[in-house]
Amino acid sequence: MDLVDGVLSGDPRAVARAISMVEDGDAGLEELSAGVFPHTGRASTIGLTGSPGVGKSTLAGELVRVARERGMSVAVLAIDPTSPFTGGALLGDRLRMQAHATDPDVFIRSMATRGHLGGMALAAPEAVRILDASGRDLVIVETVGVGQAEVEVAAATDTTLVVVAPGWGDHVQVAKAGILEIADVFVVNKADREGAETSVRDLQQMIRMGSEQAWTPPVLTTSAVEGEGIAELWEAVEAHRQHLEATGALERGRRSRLLREVESLTAERLRGTIRELLDSDVSLVDDLAERRIDPYRAAAILMERAPRRP
Ligand code: GDP
Repeated sequence: MDLVDGVLSGDPRAVARAISMVEDGDAGLEELSAGVFPHTGRASTIGLTGSPGVGKSTLAGELVRVARERGMSVAVLAIDPTSPFTGGALLGDRLRMQAHATDPDVFIRSMATRGHLGGMALAAPEAVRILDASGRDLVIVETVGVGQAEVEVAAATDTTLVVVAPGWGDHVQVAKAGILEIADVFVVNKADREGAETSVRDLQQMIRMGSEQAWTPPVLTTSAVEGEGIAELWEAVEAHRQHLEATGALERGRRSRLLREVESLTAERLRGTIRELLDSDVSLVDDLAERRIDPYRAAAILMERAPRRP
């Protein structure tokens, strides 16, 4: 497949086209995935999640800057599960990354799902693999908000940063969305504003109340607009990475994420097959509606038939 060669050689147009195929759930996806997969696993991945407006894009821009200073090539994938219309056009607007716009070693792309079965949780990991296979050293996945799908996507990276800004509301959000569990590093951004200290203390208390983990997420303060605290944040990300490598958690985490992905992919397909069976088998539905068979029996019949469908 020419497209696979293009992706592997790092051609940005090929990469953009491949990601569009993922968004659309294009028929060529299986071939693309097969070609790309053996060339993945090299890039480091960072997820950024937090409420809209806390400064994730600005922080992502700062992380890109540090990565570039270290000679790394970077990709940023901005995930927007709420809008099916997010093309590349919004990027200049949302990602405050004009400084990197002309740097060929920085690839920036926003992504929505249009046709991909299973939605963003399944589309995003494939897009990340495409960026990984294209030779990027670092892939930053940024979500717009803290919806369930977005939190899931951000957590599907090696190191997940949960970003908050001073103010009580964010901590309620953290507790509610269950993102305490997925955070590897907490970032209190907008530390130039009042209340950052309180936010740090609140988060530290939440972490202490949580269950004991092999890695305790540090709570850092940054002022992304002023570039303050970014070096420390980078160090924390590196320390987490070293912890993952030293304990074998990197491989274990990647392995279990792959397993869950395959589980979801298979379930999605089975769901489609079963829906087709139900739609085409009027007598089964009649039997059910007229109480000749019960729902459990109907499910058992479908489970027997489904695997034999092409
Ligand atoms: P996102 O929605 O989480 O991606 O947030 P953005 O990065 O788009 O930032 C939202 C707004 O907050 C923008 O106007 C930024 O300039 C501003 N902002 C980002 N970081 C900081 C910061 O550290 N301090 C202050 N005061 N404003 C910031």
